[in-house]
Amino acid sequence: MGSRYTITEWVHQIAGLSIREGDLCIDATAGKGKDTLFLCEQVGENGQVLAFDIQQEAIEATQSLLDSHGMGSRAKVILRGHENMAEYAAEGTVSVILFNLGYLPGGDHSKATCSATTLKAAKQGLSLLKSGGLMGICIYSGGDSGFEEKEAVLSWATSLPAGEYDVIQTPFCNKPNNPPLPLFIRKR
Ligand code: SAH
Repeated sequence: MGSRYTITEWVHQIAGLSIREGDLCIDATAGKGKDTLFLCEQVGENGQVLAFDIQQEAIEATQSLLDSHGMGSRAKVILRGHENMAEYAAEGTVSVILFNLGYLPGGDHSKATCSATTLKAAKQGLSLLKSGGLMGICIYSGGDSGFEEKEAVLSWATSLPAGEYDVIQTPFCNKPNNPPLPLFIRKR
């Protein structure tokens, strides 16, 4: 780990606690593939990762990152919206699902995630999680991302039944300019 602490590294540390060798995991927003690669490393040779993105560019970047690490066969990288994830995995079978919201830095800002599809996907995702499984959602706001998606995700997540889910936010407390906000939902 370098001297610059990234929110992605933080999310990986937390998410890693819920993954065992051989597990099935989902990267809901493949982007450049960093989360997919992390999940592939964690699930090991016998595990599998499903990665979704709506941009061809992201699918290619992710697949080539995996291939360059010899992990291309552990993942299925799918050019479709994450709001269709329930077609690809059975209920109660997934140990970790990661979302990295917003737009791809250096990419097309108009191809950002948006609240309607994010919420649809997150709801499906909860049904796919197994007991003890974890969903990590890194929320971006401000600038071109605005605040609508953040408000929508937070209002949904904070109203989840406490008897079924533990919901924990881990905000940066000392960073200006709307830092990314990691939110974790653990299924009991
Ligand atoms: N904001 C983050 C990066 C987010 S990348 C950062 O700064 O590090 C978000 C990715 O989600 C993009 O590659 C985009 O194409 C993808 N995306 C947008 N809508 C999607 C959808 N419905 N399903 C799957 N991926 C989607």
